[in-house]
Amino acid sequence: MKYKVNETCIGCGLCTGLCPSLFQMGDLGQAEAEERDVFDDELSDAQNALESCPVSAIESYE
Ligand code: SF4
Repeated sequence: MKYKVNETCIGCGLCTGLCPSLFQMGDLGQAEAEERDVFDDELSDAQNALESCPVSAIESYE
């Protein structure tokens, strides 16, 4: 499972706090996800970030 952040991100920083190993803030003030499969021990935090994003900007894909 991989994650990505789409262009609707408002840069609130919530995902970077919930799963900092996967999500970081980019230079343009929007979050970015590492382009790799999530590790097993990250999955619950990554999914929590996806479900918690206030604008549903996080997507998961295989
Ligand atoms: Fe962007 Fe959503 Fe992450 Fe906030 S939680 S920084 S809006 S992707």
